[in-house]
Amino acid sequence: MQFRLTLAAVLTVVSAASAAQAISPPRIVVAISVDQFSADLFAEYRPLFTAGLKRLQTGIVFPDGYQSHAATETCPGHATILTGSHPARTGIIANEWYDQSLARADKKVYCAEDPTVPGSSSTNTTASVYFLKVPTLGDRMKAADPRSRVVSVAGKDRAAIMLGGHAIDQAWFWNGKSYVTLRGVAPPAPAIIEQVNAGVAVTIAKDETPALPEACRSHSSALAVGDKNVGVLHVRKGGDWAAFRTSLAFDHATTDIAIGLIRDLHLGSGAAPDLLAIGLSATDYVGHTFGTEGAEMCAQLLGVDANVGRILAALDATHQPYLVVLTADHGGHDLPERVKMHAVPDAARVDASLLPGSMSKELATEFNLPDPVLLGVSPFGDIYLARTVPDDLRKRVLAAAKAHYLAHPQVAAVFTADELRRMPAPSGPVDEWSLADRFRASFDPDRSGDLLVASKPHVTPIVGWDGYLATHGSPWNYDRRVPILFYQPGIAGFEQALPVETVDILPTLAALIHLPIPAAEIDGRCLDLDGGEGDTCLDVASSR
Ligand SMILES: [Zn+2]
Repeated sequence: MQFRLTLAAVLTVVSAASAAQAISPPRIVVAISVDQFSADLFAEYRPLFTAGLKRLQTGIVFPDGYQSHAATETCPGHATILTGSHPARTGIIANEWYDQSLARADKKVYCAEDPTVPGSSSTNTTASVYFLKVPTLGDRMKAADPRSRVVSVAGKDRAAIMLGGHAIDQAWFWNGKSYVTLRGVAPPAPAIIEQVNAGVAVTIAKDETPALPEACRSHSSALAVGDKNVGVLHVRKGGDWAAFRTSLAFDHATTDIAIGLIRDLHLGSGAAPDLLAIGLSATDYVGHTFGTEGAEMCAQLLGVDANVGRILAALDATHQPYLVVLTADHGGHDLPERVKMHAVPDAARVDASLLPGSMSKELATEFNLPDPVLLGVSPFGDIYLARTVPDDLRKRVLAAAKAHYLAHPQVAAVFTADELRRMPAPSGPVDEWSLADRFRASFDPDRSGDLLVASKPHVTPIVGWDGYLATHGSPWNYDRRVPILFYQPGIAGFEQALPVETVDILPTLAALIHLPIPAAEIDGRCLDLDGGEGDTCLDVASSR
């Protein structure tokens, strides 16, 4: 009797705790991707946030999320977030790759183009979801109930498209001159689009002198790199359209569109839940242009904090239950000159002999073949054997290419397509995956290279200082690790330091809106967001 009383008392306590922590099924599911927002930047800046990124930290914090695959670029990264799948399954293996079967002269493809559009090339693209092989959360929501609306807004077309998917109702992204939508979507555009485009044109026409936030004072230190000066805030000259992308005005404009669409489309008030995807792209341009450890990145991240705060306020104003997940498409690290000064002396720029053009020439001479023998977008990642190499030589040329790469001190490993094709899909803790596992998760036998080349850690695959100074894209953890934060007002928060994956986001969100996802269709697992005895994954578990 006494035992039963005790048990009843315990159960009462547990159920009371569960009630306080229960997550309301969201009417608006919001996914925010902050381009190049590495777990390292989150760790460095999280105490400084005062607005949206502070509020999100009262929710559920996974500080050690992984874009698990090797090709840590924008397109593959965005494609994992709402598909639950690694690039091996999404088919989005890189930002650009080679497809030598294409009828057009240009055999390079851009991940978010439709190469069947006449007259298109990898530089003159038509934005499209053509290459994405799997459904997104939005696609699945619309299949379950066509009344769900899918809205995707981003600075980059590939972010808006890979987050949104095949059945986007509203897609908006910056094309270098204005925010535009997908081909075939007829006007009228929502009023907010014209307003923001007009405002951006006025902003760009004027000089902008950014003020150094007090919190960024310690990050402000000038560093000369080539003929450039980084580390301190810069005046943006009126009329400099390219510089708009590294200014605070860029994410601000993208956020304005998202907020306008939340309000004007009355997101969350329909008969079925809606999806809003937001890609804040400026952090990536700041990282590439100035590196990650100067005043530029500090000011940028405080800007992201403010914009996320504005998005949360707009969601609050709907008076609908919503749930936000915030993550990133990949990590990143600083420019090698400053990494070197900051206690990592082996940081370096890639040796020019590793450029695909140089490697190709070397092999062309060796085998007396017409150049190109090899095709590749960058020194590392997917390298393709040209179709012009005769059948009887292909094995030998490939073996020679592999040997050339492996002989270079900046190369960590080279995998052949055959080796990766024979490997099982990786499993086990994602932070312990082998280099081969990471490449296997990026490998699509239809699209990947004949060789996959891994750089040594801390090698920046940019030779000089003419263009971008810093980048990501390596299989190393500084490029793989991203924060993953879930938030709903009133949610009982917790922090879980153990690694999770961005492919876990889709099943986690789907469970909250009771959308069954067959486990065999995805690579991720549902994360239980109930910090108590409850389990927000039960619906998904029972569907398996
Ligand atoms: Zn990116």
